[in-house]
Amino acid sequence: MQASFEHDVVVAGGGPTGLTLAAELTLAGLDVAVVERRASQHLDGSRAGGLHARTIEMFEQRGIADRFLTQGTTVQVHTFGATALDLSDAPSRHPYSLGLWQDRIEATLAEWVDELGVPVMRGREVSGCIQDDDGVTVTLADGATIRASYLVGCDGGRSAVRRAAGIDFPGWEATVTSLVAETEVAGDPAWGVIHRDEKGVHGFSRLEDGVRARIVVTEAEVGETGEATLEELSAALMAVYGTDYGVHSPTWISRFSDGARQAAAYRAGRVLLAGDAAHIHSPVGGQGLNTGVQDAMNLGWKLGLVVRGAVSETLLDTYHAERHPIGARVLQGTLAQNALMREEDRVEALRDVLDEVLALDGPRTHLAARFSGLGIRYDLGDDGRPLVGRRMPDLDLVVADQPTRVSTLLHDARPVLLHFGPSGMAAAEPVRTVRAASDDDWKLPVIGRVDPPPTVLIRPDGYVAWAGDPDDPALAEALARWFGLDA
Ligand SMILES: Cc1cc2nc3c(=O)[nH]c(=O)nc-3n(C[C@H](O)[C@H](O)[C@H](O)COP(=O)(O)OP(=O)(O)OC[C@H]3O[C@@H](n4cnc5c(N)ncnc54)[C@H](O)[C@@H]3O)c2cc1C
Repeated sequence: MQASFEHDVVVAGGGPTGLTLAAELTLAGLDVAVVERRASQHLDGSRAGGLHARTIEMFEQRGIADRFLTQGTTVQVHTFGATALDLSDAPSRHPYSLGLWQDRIEATLAEWVDELGVPVMRGREVSGCIQDDDGVTVTLADGATIRASYLVGCDGGRSAVRRAAGIDFPGWEATVTSLVAETEVAGDPAWGVIHRDEKGVHGFSRLEDGVRARIVVTEAEVGETGEATLEELSAALMAVYGTDYGVHSPTWISRFSDGARQAAAYRAGRVLLAGDAAHIHSPVGGQGLNTGVQDAMNLGWKLGLVVRGAVSETLLDTYHAERHPIGARVLQGTLAQNALMREEDRVEALRDVLDEVLALDGPRTHLAARFSGLGIRYDLGDDGRPLVGRRMPDLDLVVADQPTRVSTLLHDARPVLLHFGPSGMAAAEPVRTVRAASDDDWKLPVIGRVDPPPTVLIRPDGYVAWAGDPDDPALAEALARWFGLDA
């Protein structure tokens, strides 16, 4: 048995979800360690292709959005199945998606985590865990153990943490599998052309190095769930194109499907799940990485308050209550899009009808808000107030005669009590009380303009916990409920 370590939280997995969570937990004042199986940050294969509007906004709330924006290309449409949804009129500073490959996203997150001083134990693998009343003993494959208050499994779709915690992972079996690969090709395929047939979607595109190809090809039969091989890639290409274009020297071959699964519970005592460990689905619509990052932003500050003893453990139940329904809607959206992408006359007819509907502003803005994440509303039990549970608009503000923005106030991941007037209590730590003026429009995705409230309580993840009159006794209740302040 090797030496034991003590941490507030162990994060299993240093992918996009684990890295984001590690940063959020550190900003919340916790001692965190990330255990990552890969020996280096290097990621084989291109995988996720970008960030959606709400994820970009959330990174802006931490002051790091520009690090991503300067590396990628923005596009003001979102696709639903084969239909393009114009996002350009979404009330956001970022009414677009950002095209940026996952390796760049991960490298940028790793840099942030490094600056925050989080130790990442690379080349180490979590193999199990045992929890008791006081904490969790995390077992590594090399026999070491780490003792922590909580363990979060951000260890991907085949999560060892999920299995060790005995959390079910029900869902839909695959009906179609596709191979995705980065290889060299001897022949000259039709570059950039998406080929559709009754099997599915296929195509070749050039990678940035100008030499290798990125290939997506749907398999004739539902493939194995194991490692994909060059032989399988070659066979799938032969079946579609009648040639495999001499594919050789692959640097990455992977398989994805239209199957979908979601953890039955995002928390089992001191063990929690986030990202692909909690939900997997087809890559259509590009939701996976974005959903994981947003899980992490929802969980980090809550775990911070609980571990520091500011609030009771029941706050952690709001993580499942808020994020499980979002994950379920992501799964539903990908199942729907996969169904719409089938090459059948009847589906073609359905697509045509849907195109007609989505040309109307109402349905278009509704779906664009849904798939960009801008329309998320958590059910915080305050249905009368449209702002509560929704993202706080990133208003221009004047604070102490200086121009600033709501997102800037959230950089250090503390809750903000924002008074738009001289009256109103000053809340205790960790809440920051700010008196501000703003002429900005309070316009929310889908529901449009709302009346500016005199006071708004903003959670560290940028969602509104409470809004109303500063003298309303419900404000004290909200401060107690969310941040453990005396009511
Ligand atoms: C072809 C393809 C295209 C995609 N396109 C998009 C897209 O456009 N947009 C989008 O949002 N998403 C997309 N996705 C999905 C996206 O890649 C995932 O949702 C995302 O990587 C999930 O991040 P994660 O950190 O939760 O899990 P992962 O990225 O799987 O990271 C898990 C990490 O945990 C590590 N690990 C695993 N087991 C252990 C263990 N036992 N102990 C320690 N470490 C462990 C792994 O090495 C890995 O680093 C795509 C996926 C694929 C395959």
